[in-house]
Amino acid sequence: MNCPECDAILSIPDDSTEGEIISCYDCGADYEIAGRDGSEVKLKQAETIGEDWGE
Ligand SMILES: [Zn+2]
Repeated sequence: MNCPECDAILSIPDDSTEGEIISCYDCGADYEIAGRDGSEVKLKQAETIGEDWGE
């Protein structure tokens, strides 16, 4: 699995589960595991909007 942003190899633990956040060590992008299909892991862009709560 490669980072969609920078193509660095993402290391996803074998025991990772849906909803876990994977961070790219290279560009720092966060991805959420959207599901698994056998050995294939599907990622979606993690929602980073809202990090600044401002309160
Ligand atoms: Zn990356």
